[in-house]
Amino acid sequence: MAKRIYLDHAATTYLDPEVKMAMEPYWEKNFGNPSSLHQEGMEARKALNTSRKIVASLIAANPDEIIFTNGGTESDNLAIFGVAGQYSDLETEFPSGIITTKIEHHAVLNSCEVLEKRARLPDGQARLPAKQGFEVSYLNVSKEGIVDLKELKKALAKETILVSIMYANNEMGAIQPISEAAKIIRDFKKQNNLASLQPPFFHSDAIQAAGYLDMNVHRLGLDLMSVNGSKIYGPKGMGFLYAKRGLKLAPVIHGGGQERGLRPGTENVAGIVGLAKAFEIVQKNKEKEAKRISGLRDYLIKGVLKKIPRSFLNGHPILRLPNNANITISGVEGESLILYLDAAGIACSTGSACTSQSLEPSHVILALGKSKEASHCSVRFSLGKKNKKSDIDYLLKVLPEIVKKLRTISAVK
Ligand SMILES: *Cc1c(COP(=O)(O)O)cnc(C)c1O
Repeated sequence: MAKRIYLDHAATTYLDPEVKMAMEPYWEKNFGNPSSLHQEGMEARKALNTSRKIVASLIAANPDEIIFTNGGTESDNLAIFGVAGQYSDLETEFPSGIITTKIEHHAVLNSCEVLEKRARLPDGQARLPAKQGFEVSYLNVSKEGIVDLKELKKALAKETILVSIMYANNEMGAIQPISEAAKIIRDFKKQNNLASLQPPFFHSDAIQAAGYLDMNVHRLGLDLMSVNGSKIYGPKGMGFLYAKRGLKLAPVIHGGGQERGLRPGTENVAGIVGLAKAFEIVQKNKEKEAKRISGLRDYLIKGVLKKIPRSFLNGHPILRLPNNANITISGVEGESLILYLDAAGIACSTGSACTSQSLEPSHVILALGKSKEASHCSVRFSLGKKNKKSDIDYLLKVLPEIVKKLRTISAVK
């Protein structure tokens, strides 16, 4: 097979061999159900407990604050519907408020939208009595993709039950000021005599950040935080939600008592062991790897912007994930570029893996104030631990040729 260069780590990563090895005993040898009383069950239960301790210690939480879920989407959903289901019954005549941003992943945006729709008929009329309904505010971001905290301050109200702001954006990599947002929420609660276990609560989708950034929930000031395995060299379909002790969540899935009834169903023990191992490895290496990979990223960005006229970086130049480069190349449709690069042995993507099947413009690039056209002309290169300088050199060699060809074609059309 011809050599492939994988530059799409924000979509998903390969499994770390060390993670695979850690998971190995739990497929066939220690296959037990952690809820069983016998020895087989005990072995599985031990692995589950150990994994929970590992994950908790990596984010400075307690083991009972970790809920394992089947992926990042599920973790986001549990945070949003969990809080909405438990805390919407405020002593107020107004709908409960949720504050999020215009650049969230669809796992957050679509969940918020469902709550909004539940509350209103298509013509905007209230479907539910106001106090049972939901109203969602979507915060704007700057041209460089950073959330506007002045808007957060203004949007906070007595009815607000949840604020959800992603830690780092999956499309253009901008890192959000989470601890500053937390302080604004804390101050708001103080001014309104609200205890820490009263809403509003602060959730962050930290899925893209988990491989590179500080994940200490106290330093970040979070009440809820979502992480998954598939972006950190762990298993796909695995994730967890951190939920502060004492914060009550309404279950989204109904069944047995696993994960305190919040994620019922037989635990994927191998997956959980893998998730914990993967998280442990990336967190241990994060400073060194962030330094190495941001060097490669800057080399990529500088190279592309220099070699390709009318190309622009999307997202903040400094406050960005060490592995993300999102670039608009005017006059070149992102989808075509991806296919030509693929044929040349390079895997990358348009904004997000989830929208690339559709020709919808990216809501994230639009939120930066760019045109629909600019959004269609954007590509994302996301680096990972196997990438070397020679990979970037190869990209910088083939990309200008492809762009030239595509620009000629579109000029003829
Ligand atoms: C990938 C991703 C998700 C979804 O996670 P899954 O494990 O695929 O369900 C949610 N949010 C962000 C920011 C992501 O990058």
